[in-house]
Amino acid sequence: MYVCKINLCMIKINEESVTERFMRYVQIDTQSDPQSETYPTTQKQKNLSEILLKELQQKGITTEVDEYGYVYATIPSNSNKNIPVICFCSHVDTAPDCSGSNVKPILHKNYNGDDITLPDDTTQVLKLSDAPYLKNHIGNDIITASGSTLLGADDKSGVAAIMEAATYLINNPNIKHGDIKILFTPDEEVGKGTAKIDMQKVNAKFGYTLDGGEAGSLEDETFSADAATIIINGVIAHPGYAKGKLVNAIKIAGEFLEALPKKEWTPEVTEKKEGFVHPVRVEGIAERATIEFIVRDFDNDKLKQHGEKLRLLALNTIKKYPGVTMEFSIKEQYRNMKSILDKHPEVVANAAEAIRRSGLKVKTESIRGGTDGSRLSYMGLPCPNIFTGMQGIHSKLEWIGVKDMAKSAETIVHLCMIWEEKN
Ligand SMILES: [Zn+2]
Repeated sequence: MYVCKINLCMIKINEESVTERFMRYVQIDTQSDPQSETYPTTQKQKNLSEILLKELQQKGITTEVDEYGYVYATIPSNSNKNIPVICFCSHVDTAPDCSGSNVKPILHKNYNGDDITLPDDTTQVLKLSDAPYLKNHIGNDIITASGSTLLGADDKSGVAAIMEAATYLINNPNIKHGDIKILFTPDEEVGKGTAKIDMQKVNAKFGYTLDGGEAGSLEDETFSADAATIIINGVIAHPGYAKGKLVNAIKIAGEFLEALPKKEWTPEVTEKKEGFVHPVRVEGIAERATIEFIVRDFDNDKLKQHGEKLRLLALNTIKKYPGVTMEFSIKEQYRNMKSILDKHPEVVANAAEAIRRSGLKVKTESIRGGTDGSRLSYMGLPCPNIFTGMQGIHSKLEWIGVKDMAKSAETIVHLCMIWEEKN
């Protein structure tokens, strides 16, 4: 059993400091752009990367930013043990779903449970009845945006937590740890967070993304994801002389979409461990229509079955129309990280231990989506996801509790210590 040496175990993160840091980072517009072909997808993301570079360098931490906006930093080991190198990772960009320019964070001191009407758009009201997790923060400080933008707690709370933990490690050299790597990525929200990553520079054995919600949550499982494309080739003729000849691809696409199950197999009616298929884009002319789907499941075999079922359903519609043909293709997007993490149980176990040492209950959860960690896990860096406290993400009602963010930083410090102790 671990016996706590009191001077090493009392990690006390400064809440004012993490708040100040977070409020400063969210005011920098770092929205990524799904339509962009450049890396990073928006140059403005680098504005935050550059600030992080300077702040880390000021602490004496070796840091670099590359042309794509990735920040790589190393806090060197202060232990004589041989400890696996671990990396803490969060993303600097914010989601394209909601404006990220001119973010005005508001610190609500000593939140009392009343509705909070956001000043720049009074239709935006944060209510306990809609966001029951607010209850955990009554009597504490919370931060919201002002009503016209998202807040950007996703994922600047992760950035702030990592920066605060790094500061703590530097200021408290009595805390023993191995080499600690820090990685800040651009473009996570548009699925390109790892596109230009240099794994040589990361040079770590295991990683942790700080990109999760409620305090204590630890996510070791994500969806497995494919993208499916169905192209329907109709039969074209002059519409004035089309009788008995013309078959309109747009109408067949409509018929096929209408034939999709509505009470199952779709995001509107699935939850927990259920998978789904979801049309995300339709494009066409009478001659040719393209439908794009995303396909999701936690289980790779089931994922494959969903793809096959989709193909057969499309075929069923098409075959009613002689002369019409179909092209079906499926592309891997990312895979459930659990199968990788299961081979290295100490990665998740140490995170759970760190959360407990921070005085929180561990909530192991599955993400109905992907993280940078799901790709990183398959790129050789097994990488579960740890909470930061972010709530209501990608919306104008996004908010975060200050104590959660401080607990997230505390968990990082404990995690560094645990890896040192256990080796
Ligand atoms: Zn995120």
